[in-house]
Amino acid sequence: MIIWYYHRILPDDGSAAVSTGVFEKQMGYLKKSGYEFIDTEGLKEFFQNPRQKKRKIVMLTFDDGWADNLIWATPILAKFAAKAVIAVNTGLVNENLKVVRNEKNYEIISSKSALELATKKTDFSSFLTWNELAEMKKSGIWDIQAHGNSHLGCYHSFDDIKGFYPENKHWLMEYALGESPFEGAPRAKFISTLCSPRSTLSDEFRDKLRNSRNNAKRLEICRNFENPIKILETEKEFEKRLRDDFSECKRKLRKNLNVETDSLFWTWGQFSDTSIKIALECGFKMLFSTEKSPATEKTDPHMIPRIPAPDKLAEFKLQNICFTNSLLLPIRKVL
Ligand SMILES: [Zn+2]
Repeated sequence: MIIWYYHRILPDDGSAAVSTGVFEKQMGYLKKSGYEFIDTEGLKEFFQNPRQKKRKIVMLTFDDGWADNLIWATPILAKFAAKAVIAVNTGLVNENLKVVRNEKNYEIISSKSALELATKKTDFSSFLTWNELAEMKKSGIWDIQAHGNSHLGCYHSFDDIKGFYPENKHWLMEYALGESPFEGAPRAKFISTLCSPRSTLSDEFRDKLRNSRNNAKRLEICRNFENPIKILETEKEFEKRLRDDFSECKRKLRKNLNVETDSLFWTWGQFSDTSIKIALECGFKMLFSTEKSPATEKTDPHMIPRIPAPDKLAEFKLQNICFTNSLLLPIRKVL
């Protein structure tokens, strides 16, 4: 079976979104093909009862907690009597706004700007409020689950440099550097701080980059520097931070929505042995990654794969066929 993941559903595509038109057609296609929509309870049954494997089932998941999930995805899901799972990052919930929004009183801003504003803790207007999440819970369409209480990342590797500040930047850069970005700060690969100890650039590496005059020099430094990363946490401190993060996420969902979560969707799908261990200690039973494979009755519930829903109907249909038919396994690699 396929567990699809989405982020945003918006009237027009782009900005890490699937458009409402395409989403509606995808739901129509699944319904017409005879799929039954399941939530995390249904998935648990699927893992427990092998006889169910003949059922034609699908699971839809939405990461982060975008306000558009209520405004645009909910009416379409209702139309097709579909269920979906929303993985809420409780650190992104819009705590200030009390109203429940609709398409008339919601201003669309790009995902990058929205995440940058939320990371700087100045504006969470693109994300759901507790009242809106309560409305979604009441609808019976949404199964509310966990996506952590922070959505941050730090520098991981410098193999794939995408450029340098200020020409190239990322909404996480300030957090990853631990200071305002400087001219020549690299835009490189980040890793979720929910799977790895917090790190930053080593002092020597930082100084070298600061003192370089051009990007060609900086690129050379990034390629050849031996120890570019400084780890800021001990293993014990890292474990404590994870425990605090997962417990806080669970506590907020319980307090604000009376929801008891047991499914955790890793931020950026990234996890490690330590993060799995702590998540299980905190009471999570199913852990979801973004490994692009179908889920089967043999799937490890601590490493459940998910497939990103493409923003085109034809691609969605093609992937649905290839990922649900084991004879087409070799083709999957190129999708
Ligand atoms: Zn996310």
